[in-house]
Amino acid sequence: MASKKKVIVIGSGFAGLSSAAYLAKDGHEVTLIEKNSTLGGRARQFEEKGFVFDMGPSWYWMPEVFERFFNNFGKKASDYYHLERLDPSYRVFFEDEKWDIPADFEALKKLFDKVEPGSSKELESFLKEAKYKYETGMHDFVYRPSLSITEFLDVRILGALFKMQLFSSISSEIKKRFKNPKLRQLMEFPVLFLGAKPEETPALYSMLNYADIQLGTWYPKGGMFKVIEGMVAVGKAQGVKFLTSVEAKSIEVNNGITKGIHTNQGFMEADAVVAAADYNFVEQRLLSPEYRMYSDDYWQKRKLAPSCLLYYIGLNKKLEGMLHHTLFFDADFGQHAIEIYDRPDWPKNPLFYVSTTSASDPSVAPAGKDNLFLLIPTAVGLKEDDSIKQHYLTVMLDRIEKHTGQRLHESIEVCKIFSGQDFVNDYNSFRGNAYGLANTLFQTAFLKPRMKNKKIKNLYFAGQLTVPGPGVPPCIISGEVAAHLLTKEMK
Ligand SMILES: Cc1cc2nc3c(=O)[nH]c(=O)nc-3n(C[C@H](O)[C@H](O)[C@H](O)COP(=O)(O)OP(=O)(O)OC[C@H]3O[C@@H](n4cnc5c(N)ncnc54)[C@H](O)[C@@H]3O)c2cc1C
Repeated sequence: MASKKKVIVIGSGFAGLSSAAYLAKDGHEVTLIEKNSTLGGRARQFEEKGFVFDMGPSWYWMPEVFERFFNNFGKKASDYYHLERLDPSYRVFFEDEKWDIPADFEALKKLFDKVEPGSSKELESFLKEAKYKYETGMHDFVYRPSLSITEFLDVRILGALFKMQLFSSISSEIKKRFKNPKLRQLMEFPVLFLGAKPEETPALYSMLNYADIQLGTWYPKGGMFKVIEGMVAVGKAQGVKFLTSVEAKSIEVNNGITKGIHTNQGFMEADAVVAAADYNFVEQRLLSPEYRMYSDDYWQKRKLAPSCLLYYIGLNKKLEGMLHHTLFFDADFGQHAIEIYDRPDWPKNPLFYVSTTSASDPSVAPAGKDNLFLLIPTAVGLKEDDSIKQHYLTVMLDRIEKHTGQRLHESIEVCKIFSGQDFVNDYNSFRGNAYGLANTLFQTAFLKPRMKNKKIKNLYFAGQLTVPGPGVPPCIISGEVAAHLLTKEMK
């Protein structure tokens, strides 16, 4: 049993909640502080006029990671929420047709063969490789703090690395196998979560295709926030103290040792700190310069995942033709990617995504009405104003109307917009990023910002800007790894 330490966790996103629960289980006295008035970070939820909106993540992938978290505390996910697999998993609108992506693999293979005869064989072999990467990744890579390359210098791991396709791009692997542009786009879609162009994303990440197609797209009834509630309940049962509207203003360090945190509510003493708020903000704003591991130049050179424009809309009627998840791929993917990554600008004709959770869950909208969550990925740091936000709302509503054949503009009862600047204001997000750092080769594993500050003995980091990376499952893992590292080092 580790010696009991007073630990402060900064931030109540998935990483902070996970870390706090594990630290308390390890025997520490844990206080989690959150600057906002509600818990959950990017996964907060709000309700207006009976419409319930998850503010951030909506795709529940890799259910085993959630299950593992609850199991480690003697619980099951089903103790906190009812999970159901979506079928179809999602709908895609192309310019001239729509595809429903079936949960059943045999049905999906038929779809592939119909579009491109023989392509189901390619799909099978592509997913066989993806499965290997996923299983090896989960088993050998992601549950490591990745503090140095030496963690990976093991014959078995080096052998595995070779098969993980780190050095070829996912785009080239997909192009080798599929000719049809729509199939290619479908296979590249999961990479959008990773925040870089498919051409710059290692083929390693086809593991996400495996997660998408074979492990499935799930939904916790009531919304993703049910997971947050479950994790908070676990933390409370372990003895974590949760404090909202408490903002870290600076980290007190004496001779390389954290002594505690200055907050808007006064000084809080600590034997150790896990910073699960935006890494860049903690480094550059909460630490004095001599304790920062990374320079401003380092941060400016990081490749960030996109920001996004989000719209939470309550409709005064039901909108036919949308599934729980609907992707609008009825525009030029390549051009939009250029506007996000290469020549940052507002997109001329963006791809976008709509989540209509009320399509499968009547509890999240008033009877006879629907909630819509609209998302356009954008470059980080763009200059924004109200007219731009209104423009994109019109663009998306027009395209939804075109594809579903129903009027929408006059049916909006609730509309809240959330933009890059809101990411900065609400989460202290670096340049307004939505999903942290892009998962390029040079920002993977030990090449990401380090989970442990080298200059301070007892300051650890968790969350989407450190290992293993962005996304809900990785953040849950990040919190666990940081907690165990702290416990191990602070014995
Ligand atoms: C719109 C959107 C859609 C997404 N969709 C998906 C999806 O479908 N599936 C998926 O798996 N992932 C998705 N993601 C990614 C995923 O949501 C994130 O990677 C993950 O939630 C990040 O968790 P985190 O704990 O690292 O950070 P956060 O959730 O940002 O938590 C950090 C917390 O720290 C707090 N904080 C900051 N500064 C301070 C301070 N000084 N003092 C106290 N508290 C502070 C912030 O308020 C925040 O609550 C999405 C993200 C976004 C934004």
